[in-house]
Amino acid sequence: MAQLDTRQKLEILADAAKYDASCASSGSVKRDSRGGKGIGSTDQGMGICHAYAPDGRCISLLKILLTNSCIFDCHYCINRKSSNVRRARFTTDEVVQLTLAFYRRNYIEGLFLSSGIIASSNYTMEQIVEVARSLREDHDFRGYIHLKTIPDADPELVHQAGMYADRVSINVELPTVSGLKRLAPEKSATQIEGAMAATKADILDTADAKKRYKSAPRFAPAGQSTQMIVGADAATDRDIVGRAAGLYGKFGLRRVYYSAFSPIPDASAVLPLKRPPLMREHRLYQSDWLMRFYEFSPQEVADAADDTGMMPLDIDPKLAWALKHRARFPVDVNRAPREMLLRVPGLGTRAVGKILAARRWRRLSLADIGRLTVSIAKIRPFLIASDWRPVALADKLDVRTLVAPKVEQMELFG
Ligand code: SF4
Repeated sequence: MAQLDTRQKLEILADAAKYDASCASSGSVKRDSRGGKGIGSTDQGMGICHAYAPDGRCISLLKILLTNSCIFDCHYCINRKSSNVRRARFTTDEVVQLTLAFYRRNYIEGLFLSSGIIASSNYTMEQIVEVARSLREDHDFRGYIHLKTIPDADPELVHQAGMYADRVSINVELPTVSGLKRLAPEKSATQIEGAMAATKADILDTADAKKRYKSAPRFAPAGQSTQMIVGADAATDRDIVGRAAGLYGKFGLRRVYYSAFSPIPDASAVLPLKRPPLMREHRLYQSDWLMRFYEFSPQEVADAADDTGMMPLDIDPKLAWALKHRARFPVDVNRAPREMLLRVPGLGTRAVGKILAARRWRRLSLADIGRLTVSIAKIRPFLIASDWRPVALADKLDVRTLVAPKVEQMELFG
């Protein structure tokens, strides 16, 4: 194999990392390099991914693989053993130097590092940990680090990853155990869940120790996340929502990322030929938000799915749920509890907060609500205001056509 220079490796290994969705950096602790100590900070603003924190802050990470060679042969993965792609491998020192160089030039605020399995899971994990160790200990790097850990590596190595990283992620890969068995036969659902449980215990122990001793060591302060590939197996959206809810509940994950399967060159015959619609991925993220920020139970979110278990693609899941539960509407914005206001299609968490604050002093009209939302037309059928009461929603058969986004006719000429 011809020798590759660092730039060529970067091209290959940043491109290979783009299939990994799990690199948002929300929840990081603030660290900075004021006082002339250390390199980098996490509180300012070719392989760079942009992740958004919940406060809207955009964080740039150098997103790369240590290597795109792998001894495993997961069917859905472009880096699998039998794939015919150009391979490259960074040394740990190359990754450290690249990260520092990008950081000093202000291109990035941190590193997201994953890898194919090199010789064994333990060897690969050692290499990943060494990058983070060297950045933190040899170079006093204070930027954000997100490490992808390997579930069947020695738990002590996974633990060390969490000591250096802000966030660790362990991919569940497929929404169902049967899907994992079929498409990633070398991986084990039991091992993946075992690693997640151990990481959760480490995070809780550290939080507990931190309360008592200021000097207690940190452990993945931005928590753990995971990623599921959507559309590579027969799992329905209802299955996916159920699995995500289980993972949030059992392992206290900060985020579940959904990555639409994308067909790869020389794909295995067990995979579908087409990628699922990108809108499906978007609807799953919206469903996830309903559970995390809108107080929907997993069952309620699953309820938004149609008879085949899939979320409608033409309307968002909150609107789909509202249309299925018309008897719960209209909601009186001047009286309803927060929980019901959050269920009104088109009312976001911020708007609900403002309604609750304002109605302590006065009764709100439709125009008042209009100022808090993007489209009053969409939400009018679902609410009662001081000067507005819709005709009974339950009787209106065409309410979906009234509120669903209009499909636009494409230009025929020009
Ligand atoms: S272990 Fe990871 S890199 Fe290797 S084939 Fe499976 S998904 Fe791809």
